Amino acid sequence: MKKIFFITTPIFYPNANLHLGHAYTSTVCDVMARYHRIAGDETYFLTGSDENTEKVVRAARAAGKDAGTYLDEININFKNLFSKLGISYDQFIRTTDERSHWPGVVEMWKRIAAQGDLEKRSYKGLYCVGHEAFITEKELIGGKCPDHNESPQILEEENYFFKLSKYTGAIKEKIESGELKVVPESRRNEILALLERGLEDVSFSRPADKVSVGIPVPGDPSQKIYVWADALTNYISALGFGRKDDALYKKFWDNPDAETIHVIGKDILRFHAAIWPGMLLSAGLPLPKTILVHGFITSGGKKMSKTLGNIIDPLELINEYGGEAVRYYLARHISLFEDGDITHESFKEAYNGNLANGLGNLVSRTLKMAATNDVEITDEIKIKTAKEKSAGDMHKRQEQALKNFDIKEAVDVVWNYVSLTDEFIQKEAPFKKLKTNKESALENMGLLLGRLEIIAAALQPFMPNTAKEIQRLIKENKMPEKPLFPRKD
Ligand SMILES: [Zn+2]
Repeated sequence: MKKIFFITTPIFYPNANLHLGHAYTSTVCDVMARYHRIAGDETYFLTGSDENTEKVVRAARAAGKDAGTYLDEININFKNLFSKLGISYDQFIRTTDERSHWPGVVEMWKRIAAQGDLEKRSYKGLYCVGHEAFITEKELIGGKCPDHNESPQILEEENYFFKLSKYTGAIKEKIESGELKVVPESRRNEILALLERGLEDVSFSRPADKVSVGIPVPGDPSQKIYVWADALTNYISALGFGRKDDALYKKFWDNPDAETIHVIGKDILRFHAAIWPGMLLSAGLPLPKTILVHGFITSGGKKMSKTLGNIIDPLELINEYGGEAVRYYLARHISLFEDGDITHESFKEAYNGNLANGLGNLVSRTLKMAATNDVEITDEIKIKTAKEKSAGDMHKRQEQALKNFDIKEAVDVVWNYVSLTDEFIQKEAPFKKLKTNKESALENMGLLLGRLEIIAAALQPFMPNTAKEIQRLIKENKMPEKPLFPRKD
């Protein structure tokens, strides 16, 4: 049966270009979206940018630009990276979009307010501009915020607070019952431990005269809605929640049969697995079904940072190796469930070993044999290869892996099949056999084409252009004019 599948990245801050962690989240979502589309599921893939923040205002000022121009430019950079990585999103939401985004936020606010869950309180605390949030004394190191190396300001102001504490028990129950799945288990335990300690109420607005951007609080223009109350709502505002044209919302969110997944990094777990469900529960709206949490990407075992000079820019990698190779590395060499690591050396090694040699070599050898001997793929060959146990096993394992969001395993099984096929060539040596047993040699070559076709199909969600290219070459019975993945020295 056709499924309804909705997947999202977080909306990214356009205060700098996207880094490898963002590329990773987007690639994970794209793999899942493509997999479901191929399976025939109705699929919607949402991404976007989180623009109503002081971070953006500061970044624009530092760049000597007005915020609008700055945002447009950086959005072009986002989309450029997505295009080079083949990220097949259906919608890119911008939270400054007053037509698409704002009505949903206003509706969300009104619903939460109607429950009596928003309360104006005077708040005095330590405010970190980098965080755009109040932080506690405990978090400071040497009087400074350790994340931003800045001293916080003491701020007293009126805020609307969302009574999140009220929903602690209800959220816990949803997660424990599995109605809201948090994957992997380690992150589920982490959020359950936090819920066990109890949630605190959170500030949902700031005085309009203190912030330059944001959506005015309905009925109280002296306040603006800020950060999470605004940003998290993008997941449904983009679908039309709060607007007349809400067909997407009805299909992909307000639908018990819809599979809804937020893919996030571990640093924003609390917002997605506590504040967001709390908002939805208060507003009487359906929760997402799954929150999929990935780790960080380090380089040489260390957090990437300007100071260490170990930042690996996704665009640089793409320019050198191509978008497909970067997708390959992110999907197979970074585990979704733990922190992953990348260095220029590890990337090159994986590229040469598995793309230039492994896959690339197999494609060249097979197509060269087939083209030289006029062996073409037939329906009979396709059926025969698909029935082989090795192909059946690979499909089963890949399907199971993707059901468990184990993308690494889902790609591993393809390379396992590539190895088996290499071994087959070694063992049968069809090229040599041509002189002694031509019939068997040609049969072997046909079988190899069939296997290549199976590899291409299995690669589609991960390396869509490579899959297409292999399929084209098989169909036209051509050897590649140039290697699919030229070796790098
Ligand atoms: Zn900070």
